[in-house]
Amino acid sequence: MWSVTQKAALVTFAAVVGTVLIEFAISMATGRPYPFFVFVLDVLMPAAMGFPVAYLLFRQQHRLRAAAAELKQVNAELTHKVSRDHLTGFLNRETFFERTGGLRRRSDAGALLLIDADHFKTINDTHGHLVGDEALRLIAGAISRSVRDTDVLGRVGGEEFCVFLPSTERWEAVVVAERLRAGVEQLDFRPIPDVRHPLSVSIGAVMHDAGESMSKLMRRADIALYRAKASGRNMVVMPRETRLVDSEPVACRNRIQAVTLRSW
Ligand code: GH3
Ligand code: MG
Ligand code: MG
Repeated sequence: MWSVTQKAALVTFAAVVGTVLIEFAISMATGRPYPFFVFVLDVLMPAAMGFPVAYLLFRQQHRLRAAAAELKQVNAELTHKVSRDHLTGFLNRETFFERTGGLRRRSDAGALLLIDADHFKTINDTHGHLVGDEALRLIAGAISRSVRDTDVLGRVGGEEFCVFLPSTERWEAVVVAERLRAGVEQLDFRPIPDVRHPLSVSIGAVMHDAGESMSKLMRRADIALYRAKASGRNMVVMPRETRLVDSEPVACRNRIQAVTLRSW
C-alpha cells in the first residue's frame, strides 16, 4: 500500500511533468524559446504548491478511511452486543425470534426446544442471586455442548432457554433434547465447597408445522413444558402429534426408547 507521502510525491511529479510538457508544446507551436528560468519555475511552482495540497488531501482521505473502518468495527461489535444476553452469550429474546422466524421459513423440518431450569428460585433463595447466575451460566454451557453450531440458542426468559434445531427430524430432536437434559443433570454445581446442588431442566419439544407461526409453535412448546413440569420435572416432553411412528428407522427408535420421553 502506498503511503500518503508517496502518493503526494507521485501526484506532484505528474503535475511538474505536465506543466513542463505543456510549456514545451506551447513554445514549439509558437516558435518562442523556452528559457531555462521558465523551466525552473515550471518545476518549482507545481512542486511547491502541489505537494502540500496533495499531501493534505491524501492524509485526509487516509484518516477518513481509517475512521470508516473503525466505525464499521464498532458497529459490528455493537450489533453483536445488543443481540446477545450478557450472562450466557446466547441470543437475547428479540434476536432469537427474529432469527428463527427466518430459519423457519427456509427449512422444511425443524424442532423447537423450550427449556426451563427446575426449582431455580430455591438456588437464589438459598445461595443468593450471584450463585444463581453462576448456575445459569453452567446450564447454558451444558446446552451449548449438546447442540450443533448451526442450531440457534436463545435466552428467552430469566431461567428459560430456547433452542431451534433447523433441518432436524423428530427422532433427532428427541435425542438432542435428552442429551441436553442429561448434560444439565450431570453438572457438578457446588455453591458451597463439597456440597453438590443438583441442577435439572424440563424441556418441551415440538416439531414445527410448515407455515406455522413462531408464536403458535411457542404456545405448543409451552404446553409441552408445562406437562414436563407437572409430570415431575427433569424430563423431555414431546406432544402426541410429534410422537415417533413405526416408519422411523429401528436404530433410532431404540435410542429414543431409552430416553425419559413423555408424550400424551
Ligand atoms: P420451576 O421448576 O417451576 O420452573 O420453578 P422455578 O423456581 O425455576 O420457577 P419460578 O418461576 O418460581 O422462579 C424462577 C426464578 O428464576 C426466580 C428468579 O429469581 C430466577 N431468575 C430469573 N432470572 C434470573 C437471573 O438472571 N439470575 C438469577 N440468579 N436468577 C434468575
Ligand atoms: Mg420459568
Ligand atoms: Mg424454572
